Amino acid sequence: MHDFFLTDADRAFRAEIRAFLAAELAPRCEAIERDEDWEAVKAVVRALGAAGYMKLMFADLYRGGLEKPGLTHATILSEEAAYLNYAFETTIATALSCAYPLHAHARPAIRERFLTPILEGTAVGSICMTEPNVGSDSAGMETRIRFDETTREWVIDGFKRYISNASKADVYIVWGISDPDVAPQKGMTAVAVPADTPGLSFPRSYDFMGRRGCVVGEVTLDGVRVPEENLLGEAGGGFRIMLGAFNFERVILGGSGLGVARSAFDIATGHAQARRSFGEALGQKQLIWDMIAQMSWRIDAAELLTYRAAKMYDAGLDGKALMREAAQAKLVATETANFCADRTVQVLGGDGVTRQYGRAEQIYRDARALPIVGGTSEMCKYLIAAREMPAIKPNL
Ligand SMILES: Cc1cc2nc3c(=O)[nH]c(=O)nc-3n(C[C@H](O)[C@H](O)[C@H](O)COP(=O)(O)OP(=O)(O)OC[C@H]3O[C@@H](n4cnc5c(N)ncnc54)[C@H](O)[C@@H]3O)c2cc1C
Repeated sequence: MHDFFLTDADRAFRAEIRAFLAAELAPRCEAIERDEDWEAVKAVVRALGAAGYMKLMFADLYRGGLEKPGLTHATILSEEAAYLNYAFETTIATALSCAYPLHAHARPAIRERFLTPILEGTAVGSICMTEPNVGSDSAGMETRIRFDETTREWVIDGFKRYISNASKADVYIVWGISDPDVAPQKGMTAVAVPADTPGLSFPRSYDFMGRRGCVVGEVTLDGVRVPEENLLGEAGGGFRIMLGAFNFERVILGGSGLGVARSAFDIATGHAQARRSFGEALGQKQLIWDMIAQMSWRIDAAELLTYRAAKMYDAGLDGKALMREAAQAKLVATETANFCADRTVQVLGGDGVTRQYGRAEQIYRDARALPIVGGTSEMCKYLIAAREMPAIKPNL
């Protein structure tokens, strides 16, 4: 059964957001994929912000029709957007990942200056953790953040790579080590850096196999200085802030994977029923049945895990209480997206690998990043196993 965990209000919201994206995103998908048109991306972000949909995660700020907005609805938005265009969806997922720590940990003036425009869709945010020598092992980061007692500023030196919205964002949340003499869990700090800060530069953007239209690049921080009030939370509390965002981010990624998987599946089932081969419908062949059946149960498993985790979060569970469930949702949904993208190409034959016959080849290219971003599949497996075997410390 589809949408098992969703209420009637949730389903009505899905219908509402689907209609909204059909009007705002669908007509711009080609420009985003073919021309990598950032203005098209920004136009949809603006429309989402103006309609209040960027505030779904923040019940205290939300003013829309839902009685209890939350992660369930942000995940529905993610799923529906990724169904149409995963590259676009990464821009809103990153905006929410940036908005989340600003909402929870920024000083009031910083919150007002940066969070409000992101949620209104007039500004874009970015989160900077990954570095050349540090990806999955984020505790080992080399960026340094020190406090200058004389000017009462935070001074940041470092280099970040694979940063979504790099060069396009209005604000960057940057993590770095502020006390190298203690464990990173206690010596990491996070600060908000406005885009126009001297010393902040963007050496290059990456050319990816998929996700055309979203911008991901490098960020250099060369003696960057920001005022004391740009600190998020407490000095040395950056690792906790980073971990706090992971559960929510992984559930959103569950929605992304689900949307991509569904998009592929609809193409495969449509083709299998329409295409004739050896005198009958392609879908009549049992080897095709196998592919369709495998896609179907994997999508349902991904959906159940994703919305279970979203509902748990909305019921107040987070931190360790949600770690296993959020990791399961992310792992299964993103691997399912790849499985479905691959099998859809196979069901389509030559049409699956040509640009002239629809979106299967685009979905195949787009899906590949999903098990890498936001905690790789391997890291998700560690998190799941760690919860299942509390007596064993993961040997990473
Ligand atoms: C499109 C895109 C957008 C991104 N956006 C952002 C962003 O906005 N902000 C940001 O900070 N980062 C971002 N990232 C970075 C992303 O989070 C990292 O790529 C990811 O965490 C993996 O890090 P890595 O690439 O350094 O790979 P590595 O950590 O070097 O891992 C390489 C491989 O080894 C595996 N591996 C690593 N350690 C172990 C282990 N102990 N046991 C078993 N296997 C292991 C990994 O699972 C992976 O398969 C983005 C990446 C991409 C591709």
